[in-house]
Amino acid sequence: MNASAAAPREGVDWARVRADFPLLARMVHGKPLVYFDSANTGQKPLAVIEAVDGFYRRHNANVSRAVHALGAEATEAYEGARAKLAGHLDVRAEDLVLTSGTTFALNLVAYSWALPRLGPGDAILLTRMEHHANIVPWQLVAARTGATIKVAELLPDGSLDLDGLQAAMTPDVKLLGVTHVSNVLGTVNPVREICRMARKRGIATVVDGSQALPHMAVDIPAIGCDFYAFTGHKMCGPTGTGGLWARREHLQAMPPFLGGGEMIREVRFDGTVYADPPHRFEAGTPNIAGHVGLGAAVDYLDAIGMDAVAARERELHAHLEEEMRKVDGLRIVGEAPGKAAVTSFLVEGAHAHDLATLLDLEGVAVRSGHHCAHPLMHFYGVPATCRASLAFYNTHAEVEAFAAALRKVRNLLA
Ligand code: PLP
Repeated sequence: MNASAAAPREGVDWARVRADFPLLARMVHGKPLVYFDSANTGQKPLAVIEAVDGFYRRHNANVSRAVHALGAEATEAYEGARAKLAGHLDVRAEDLVLTSGTTFALNLVAYSWALPRLGPGDAILLTRMEHHANIVPWQLVAARTGATIKVAELLPDGSLDLDGLQAAMTPDVKLLGVTHVSNVLGTVNPVREICRMARKRGIATVVDGSQALPHMAVDIPAIGCDFYAFTGHKMCGPTGTGGLWARREHLQAMPPFLGGGEMIREVRFDGTVYADPPHRFEAGTPNIAGHVGLGAAVDYLDAIGMDAVAARERELHAHLEEEMRKVDGLRIVGEAPGKAAVTSFLVEGAHAHDLATLLDLEGVAVRSGHHCAHPLMHFYGVPATCRASLAFYNTHAEVEAFAAALRKVRNLLA
């Protein structure tokens, strides 16, 4: 299957791991690809590609409907993926709703949990570094309920102002939305401490784990949140996958978000009995093959070990920032201690898009733009940044190629 699965957990053979990712062998504009855009979406190992392919070749059928053999196999594969994810996150499978990703997961909390509970005089507290996916659903809820949005600010280095956050936890606040890791700054928020502070004040917590799961072991019960949302495609899984973990008492109390097949026990015209969670929140045919692929991604990551992934990325990221600091006129945006392997940057006199376009011509893929975080761009007073984001499958040679490309582009733009 894949090289790393066969490798011992101690002393991972990173060259073999890299060879598991076929796309990374590609050329772009005649240059070897340097893929530094994993915060946008991660690349997929063969184990994931083969799991999706194998599902369609051998097991394809709909889930929870057909009694025939393929139907049972498809259901087993889909529920098996849920069980693998639950094991990875140290939660119970029955408390894990599979969704198309974080955006769906956060909207599910917004519409099923928050909408019926909030009203005028209530507040939703968000941090300045949230992705639009953890802002806009709350604005929609606020508009319909009369609740207001409060913002917890940052310190200049891009870490959360924890004193300010605590002071903002006033009695009107009913819900706090906080990202575990910033997709722009790489800041790792102390979500355990934050959730403890919120819980003491009776505030429900929604953690956006999109950028945490690709980089570190996450133990959801240890965080102590009420809801944890994540997306599969940033953690080696297919697009259109992910989930929401929620405390059982919330799931039991939440009405369905979408209605349809798969989420009911009995339908009559005079009333419908819904299925128990998590299926109550999975109306319609789900992304079966995608989640089978996500299950394979979890197996793949577990075989390497998330601690090994985190250590490898720390090393690569330290090298990356060391090289970047040598480039004249380059400014790193976000310098919180203990960042994940994500670095936003600007180069004096150059627009972020021009920089990214010229880097692309050198074979280097970085993202430029607002990164779906307009309020954070306003905080730094810039319209856009460039962002280099790493994964464990990158190499030190790529960091050097990136630095050389950056110097070349810098000289062109100077
Ligand atoms: N939250 C964060 C921090 C993200 O980085 C992203 C994706 O970029 C999302 C939410 C949205 O994820 P998705 O588009 O997979 O739903």
